[in-house]
Formats: sequence, C-alpha cells, structure tokens
Amino acid sequence: MRALEALTREASALANGTRTGGAVIPILSAREAEVGRQMQICNACRYCEGFCAVFPAMTRRLEFGKADIHFLANLCHNCGACLHACQYAPPHEFAVNVPKAMAEVRGQTYADYAWPPALGKLYQRNGLTLSLALAAGLALFLILGVAANGSLWGNALQGNFYRLFPHNLLVGLFAPVFLFSALALAMGVRRFWRDVTPATGGAPLSPPAAAEAADAVLRLKYLGGGHGEGCNEADDAFTLARRRFHHLTFYGFLLCFAATSVATLYHYVFGWVAPYELPSLPKLLGVAGGVSLMAGTAGLWWLNRRRDPLHGDAAQKPMDLGFIALLFLTSASGLALWLGRGTPALALLLCLHLGAVMALFATLPYGKFAHGIFRTASLLRHAIEKRQPSPIGLGAE
Ligand code: SF4
Ligand code: SF4
Repeated sequence: MRALEALTREASALANGTRTGGAVIPILSAREAEVGRQMQICNACRYCEGFCAVFPAMTRRLEFGKADIHFLANLCHNCGACLHACQYAPPHEFAVNVPKAMAEVRGQTYADYAWPPALGKLYQRNGLTLSLALAAGLALFLILGVAANGSLWGNALQGNFYRLFPHNLLVGLFAPVFLFSALALAMGVRRFWRDVTPATGGAPLSPPAAAEAADAVLRLKYLGGGHGEGCNEADDAFTLARRRFHHLTFYGFLLCFAATSVATLYHYVFGWVAPYELPSLPKLLGVAGGVSLMAGTAGLWWLNRRRDPLHGDAAQKPMDLGFIALLFLTSASGLALWLGRGTPALALLLCLHLGAVMALFATLPYGKFAHGIFRTASLLRHAIEKRQPSPIGLGAE
C-alpha cells in the first residue's frame, strides 16, 4: 500500500510537469496526466496483466509520456474487464477507472491527429442529432429535386433507378466524398503512427508482427476479456455479445464494400451494366452485407444503451450512436430499396438511401469510424514493440 501511495505522489508530480527530483518533463493534458497516474498504480498492482494488450505494453514502461499514453489509449478496447476486476475502482480513493481514462484520451487523440487539423473539432460535434439531420437534409434535398420533375412516385423507372440518377452521375457525386474521407483518415493515422513509433521501439513493421496484429483485429481478440468469456457490459457478468455484434457490423461493412467493388469491376472492366439481380455476385454480397450490418448495428445500439455508466467517456456517446445510426440507416434503406424496386416508392426509397450513404461518407473521417483505424495502428505498434527487448528488462512477455 505504501508503494502505491508513493507512486500516486509521483504521478501527481508528473501531472504537474515535474519529476520528484525537480526535472521538467513535457506537459500533459489533464486527461493524459490522469492516464499516467492510473498506469503508475496499475504498474505496481499488475492484477490485470492477462486481460488485454494494454497491461503487457504498460509493463515495458516506468514512466508515461504523451506518445506512450496516446498509444495505450488507442490500444484499449474499452472492454470494461479491468474496471470490474479492480480493487482500487471508485469509490476507492485511488479512483482507478482505466476504461474511462483511456476513452477520454482516445477521443482527444482523434481530434489532435485529424487532417486537416482545423477539422479536428468536428469530432466533438459529430453526434447523433447531426448525423440524422445530415442524412435527412440530404434525402430531403434529393426528394424535392425529384418531386419537382414529377418522378417521385410511380412505375416510370420500371425497377431501374439508374434511369433517375445515371450510374456516372452517382459515381461523380460519391467518389470525391469517399476519396476525401479515405485521404483524411490515412493522413490522420500517419501523423499518429509517426508520433508513437519512437515510443514503441522505433522498429519497422515485420511480417510476423503484421500477421499477429491482423489476427487480433479480425478476431477482435481483446473483446474476449483475456479469458475468452467476453467483456463486461451492464454488470460483472461476462458476455461475448459485443464481440459478436462488432463482427456482424465489421464483416457486414466489408461485404457491402466488396459488393460495390465487384459492381465497379463489372461496370468498367467487363461492361456489364447495372442493376444486378440475384444470384449475381454484387447482389449476393450486398444482401448478405446489408443484413449483417443491420443486425450488428441494432445489437451495438442496444448494448450501448444498457452499458455500465462507469465505462468509457459519456461525452462520446452521441458520436458512437451517430455512427451506429448511420450504418443502420444505410443498410436498412439499401435493403428496402432492393425489396421495393418493383413498387411506385422506388424513387423515394432511392433518395432516402442516397441521403444516408452520403451522410455516412461525409462523417466517416471525423466520427467513430476512426476508432477502428487508430486501434489497428496501435495493435500493429504493439506487435512490433513486443518483439523488441524490454527497455527496462522486466516486460511481462
Ligand atoms: S485496473 Fe486495478 S486491478 Fe487492474 S492492474 Fe490496475 S490497479 Fe490493478
Ligand atoms: S478496458 Fe479492457 S481493453 Fe481497456 S485496459 Fe481495461 S482490460 Fe484492457
């Protein structure tokens, strides 16, 4: 206990910008200092060492600088296991709540590394209301335009919505927004990678490290709680629900992306003009992806609403829900468009779907989607770092 109190005093000194010996260190934000304080306590305790990648990475450090904290915050999957296991969690005076402290810094890193930097503040504004308003506004804009032409209701399209919005027009509208989103995310994560590389051993990526990180990403290994029984959600019970709903969402999204990519190949390489019907490959991928995405996002919404309020950062909930809602709307409206292709509502359904997709693309680089990109980068750096000798000769691995 005395050692922990000494470490807590040391952490306070670090947070104030001094070591106990008086030397000046780079100033951390209040949130970063809080992660540093908690990591000092965890480093003395180490009870949670087997839970996830954060604790083995922590044991390679005696002090926690800005880049270390950014790396660890994005390595945390917010599974809640260490909070429910912690003897120093609130109401204990040490008030250790690692998932919350990590989530608060994680949200800050998305904004700090955003590209272009001036748009970083959009992370704070990208909430549920804005996401839904953007989707509704874009859909309404299209609906009014189509209604002005007298094409909103009826069977004039004969099941082929490209008669309303030609294929090339849709590509011209959506490709620039999507490409900007991809560029913004790539530039942001590049800045993050450059910052955390020296703090994580500095070595380049190797094939074994890439394979290990890919395995952790594709299996969502660290949503297993370290024992494979799953995360904590509403209480101390373990559940694999979050991992399963994430898998449905993640693979559903990838299937929809694959459907669009295959359709692009069909159109431009083979000259097979859309629309495609079952059992064509784009349609099979799209329907499977859409159903999976709907089920996954509905489940994630449900879990989000019943989670223990001590988990994560409550201020980021609107951003989480906004992203979940847009993914759900995109998949639901896409399936409705396919099922309603022979009805007079085809043009209306198309406007709703295009509004949802455009809002999703536009908010992609400044919303919850960033967590997948930054966490993957951290898992890669972790897989690289653990292959280096421990700088303090005491690592857990
Ligand atoms: S979260 Fe609590 S129990 Fe786990 S290592 Fe930290 S101080 Fe120990
Ligand atoms: S919340 Fe889960 S992933 Fe994050 S540090 Fe705790 S045990 Fe690890």
